[in-house]
Amino acid sequence: MRTAHRTCPLCEAVCGLRLTLDDTGHVTSVKGDPDDPFSKGFVCPKGASLGRIDEDP
Ligand code: SF4
Repeated sequence: MRTAHRTCPLCEAVCGLRLTLDDTGHVTSVKGDPDDPFSKGFVCPKGASLGRIDEDP
C-alpha cells in the first residue's frame, strides 16, 4: 500500500488528488489532497471516480 499525490487532468481546475494504491499498483482510493493550495482537498464527482475510470477496460 502506498500513497501518491497527483493532479486531476479532467478540467482546467487541476484539483490536487491523494491516491492510495495497493501492492499491485491498482488505485484503491481517490480523495482530494488537503495540502493542495488551490483545491484544498475538494474534488468533484468526476475526480473522485478517476480510480474506476482508470480500471475500466
Ligand atoms: S476533480 Fe473535478 S473540478 Fe477538479 S480538476 Fe478534476 S474534473 Fe475538474
